[in-house]
Amino acid sequence: MMSDRQAAFRTAYRAQIAPAYHGLIHVALIYLIGGSALWYAARHIHAPTVADIAVVPAAMILANLFEWFLHAKVMHRPVRGFMGIYNRHTLAHHVFFTQDAPYHDTARDYRIVFFPPYALIAFLAMASAGGAILGAVWSANAGWFAVCTAAGMYMNYEFFHWCCHVRDDRILRHLPFVNTIRRHHIAHHDTAIMMTRNMNLTYPFADWLFGTSDLNTGLLGHLFNGYDTRFVRPGQPKAQSRTAVAGE
Ligand SMILES: [Zn+2]
Ligand SMILES: [Zn+2]
Repeated sequence: MMSDRQAAFRTAYRAQIAPAYHGLIHVALIYLIGGSALWYAARHIHAPTVADIAVVPAAMILANLFEWFLHAKVMHRPVRGFMGIYNRHTLAHHVFFTQDAPYHDTARDYRIVFFPPYALIAFLAMASAGGAILGAVWSANAGWFAVCTAAGMYMNYEFFHWCCHVRDDRILRHLPFVNTIRRHHIAHHDTAIMMTRNMNLTYPFADWLFGTSDLNTGLLGHLFNGYDTRFVRPGQPKAQSRTAVAGE
């Protein structure tokens, strides 16, 4: 059930979306930029060594920690200079989507599901700087692999987050990792725990590492939990143990 506050917020939020906004163009732009960056970087990789390829899992872990850090320390904390991110996430995304009503209705709601494309450009700029440093101190291939991984993880992030806020889960509930993050993130939308728990949006690795997950289980249990609520920590707010798929 959606509260009156949430319904009123949705109406007001939708009213201020520019008439020219198209959700599918927004998403297409993200995947065009991300896909182009991935393709451009991949074309520069030639005869990689095993050590070069090892950059991929290392960069995935780094991206996972970064995702956790950004969500926990910037998106949920009013940090001077980054207030726009806090306002957009804590004061808008979390009011538009609650644990009880976590689904979007139309593609116009993508405005508040997906990040603006400039966030991807900023992220790619950071990844490119890291890739350039890696290229200088190690190998060009390693640098390009880092950029590929960053672009891939960003698109992974956007896709998984969308999967959390889409209503129809007939297919999603059977997809490993997707079903895990869907329960994990919808639980995060519980206002009682949103400031402290379930900060990952792709794979709950950093939440497991830092003990900020609502689950009490090991790493594999975290990654492959799916919709299971058996391992939800006792003492969490009651709403927390509700199945993510209860529907509305
Ligand atoms: Zn969300
Ligand atoms: Zn959040």
